[in-house]
Amino acid sequence: MENKKQAEANRRAKLLKMRAERLPDIKKQFEENQKRNFNANFAPGGKDEKLVRGRKNSAKKTTKSIKPVAKKSTKKNNAKTSKITKATAAATDKKREVNLLVSTRKGEMVHHQRMLSQDVNAQATQHIIGIPVNKSRYNGYNGKQVTMAQIKAARQHRDAVRVIPIGGLGEFGIGKNMTAIEYQGEIILIDMGTLFASEDYPGVNYMVPDAKWLEDNRENVKAILFTHAHLDHIGACKHLLPYFGPLVPIYGTSFTIGMIKKQMSELSEVPDMNYHEVDPLKHENIKLSEHLSAEFIHILHSIPGNTSIVVRTPNGNILLSGDWRFETNPMDTPADYDRMLEIRDKEGYALLLNESTNIDTPGTHPHSEYDVGENMGRVMDHYANGRVIISCFSSQVKRIELVLKEAAARGRKVAFAGYSMINNVEVALRAKAIKVPKNTIMKMEDIIKLPDDKVTIVCTGSQGEMNAVLNRMITGSHRHIKIKATDTIVFSSNPIPGNEPKVVSTVGGLLREGAQVIQNGKTHLTNIGPLHLSGHAYFEDHVKFVTDMQPKNYMPYHGEFYMLQHNAEMAENIVGIPKDHIIVADDGDIVELMPDQTIHKNGRIHVGNKLYDDADRQVNEAVVKDRIHISREGIFVVILTLSKKTGRLIKTPDIVSRAFIYLDNSEELIGKIRHYLRAKTDRSIASEDDIKTMKEEIKEDVTHILFDATGHTPIVIPVINKV
Ligand SMILES: [Zn+2]
Ligand SMILES: [Zn+2]
Repeated sequence: MENKKQAEANRRAKLLKMRAERLPDIKKQFEENQKRNFNANFAPGGKDEKLVRGRKNSAKKTTKSIKPVAKKSTKKNNAKTSKITKATAAATDKKREVNLLVSTRKGEMVHHQRMLSQDVNAQATQHIIGIPVNKSRYNGYNGKQVTMAQIKAARQHRDAVRVIPIGGLGEFGIGKNMTAIEYQGEIILIDMGTLFASEDYPGVNYMVPDAKWLEDNRENVKAILFTHAHLDHIGACKHLLPYFGPLVPIYGTSFTIGMIKKQMSELSEVPDMNYHEVDPLKHENIKLSEHLSAEFIHILHSIPGNTSIVVRTPNGNILLSGDWRFETNPMDTPADYDRMLEIRDKEGYALLLNESTNIDTPGTHPHSEYDVGENMGRVMDHYANGRVIISCFSSQVKRIELVLKEAAARGRKVAFAGYSMINNVEVALRAKAIKVPKNTIMKMEDIIKLPDDKVTIVCTGSQGEMNAVLNRMITGSHRHIKIKATDTIVFSSNPIPGNEPKVVSTVGGLLREGAQVIQNGKTHLTNIGPLHLSGHAYFEDHVKFVTDMQPKNYMPYHGEFYMLQHNAEMAENIVGIPKDHIIVADDGDIVELMPDQTIHKNGRIHVGNKLYDDADRQVNEAVVKDRIHISREGIFVVILTLSKKTGRLIKTPDIVSRAFIYLDNSEELIGKIRHYLRAKTDRSIASEDDIKTMKEEIKEDVTHILFDATGHTPIVIPVINKV
């Protein structure tokens, strides 16, 4: 520390000495420059001439002048330089008569910059970094915020089973679900999901969990298990699975493994992985390591091949619910709830990790998928003369099976549109997850040749995604279909929170084309509904599930912070699990399940996010911050060309402004900046240190001039070329 300071002081002293030595030179050059008058813009008849004239009037109003060479950091021990500096500025002002005055204090600009950077930081780092604030009464520390000292002091208990959520807890939005379970150096992983980035992250498509801890512990990972094939559980496979290679076994149901393989096949080099398809109805206890084993349990959700997982550990069973819903009249094989109860009776559950998605929705599901199917049929009857276009989540393959059935019964054909839709149907057919009536599915290019009353299309875009099929059909950029007034469009979904404005705009676009739009939840408008069934349990379902499982300990997962907290309150207040046996954790918290079946928090691992764009390329967080900054304030580049020999400016500085001000309308401001830059370079600079200092000063002064004129602080980039 001390050395660094000393080195910095030496560096600065050397710089100042060099400058002092050159002062007579600088002065001479400055005077020469005055004579040369190379910047014709300011000459009579030049572009900036009026600035030179206009100065007389405005000068009195303004209060402060930017000194072209002045710099705060050099003030202290360089009285001589600053004197000259002032002289230079004064000389410039006098001779050129250009307004370099500003009316704002530098402090105002600095304040503006600080607020802006706080906003940008808050927007770009909504995910969990460092130690998150968590003063929930279930936080594992009696409602007190954990400190860095506590985390550093944490020592692992040798006999503890450690449950570590790597992603999916307390984020903004639900996603990147991933949980590690560790016992004496043996690690198993459950799920590897992505989180879709909101508009807050410009140019970012999705995030995956930071794999730093996994990299450090790669040798210890004994198995990777997947509950189901939704992207918030498998989306990160192509980024994370290649770390592990063919030795680590990967377990999932046949549909889930099919979807993972499909995703891995998109990699340029498809890695050799060790896949194992599991049939949960066989109740097989899969040995994963010396001390850990697991059993998959068939449970219902909105995708085929969905499971809960029981991990058997030396300290008792851990039940990870995965995503689930109750269904009284399911299309799929009924849930293997009896097996869950059987394990409860024979072995018990030491810890239940239960998903939290719909904890805020009261009651229980009021209808079944069959009702949704029947209502699709009613749409086809009501609007029998036109095309029916049904938009839903591409993973809802059971619903797609219903659409096929209803269409076939009415002599309609069905085509699929959208990359993920076609992929999912393919994998579902291969995994025999759906049954398809004969001669019903057609290719898009063939179905459009049929009369409208024979056409049914199932497509993506129910969330209003700009680039999805539905929007392309509206704008006319879809290859085969343009929406027309006789079309009927069904939204067989609810908008995910945050997507509402996009859905609204898509619906508006469809209505403008004169089409019929039938949305779930708007039965009062169309007399048709319901058209969607959520894949996640409602509040009363959770009460029943947790009551039935009788877990010793409870930990909500798969949810934003408020969902986790509400889920924990439900467990304590309704089910009656004691507070000390409930933990609301964040990504990275280490939760220890002890041999006596108590739980507590004990330290943290490093967690974070990796951001990816829609070409699957990583985006650095600093880039995202710059993008947010530029989107608010713009970017401003000044390019100075100096002579290699003399170190002096040899042409008028170039100025490039993007997303900030339109240059053609800002002659006065640009003239002012050009003039500042000229005055600033009225001396020879030679060394790299000089150039560095000059760049910093230009950046600061130009920012101040721009802030003064516009109230904004774009990113200012000075570029100095030597030719
Ligand atoms: Zn799911
Ligand atoms: Zn999920």
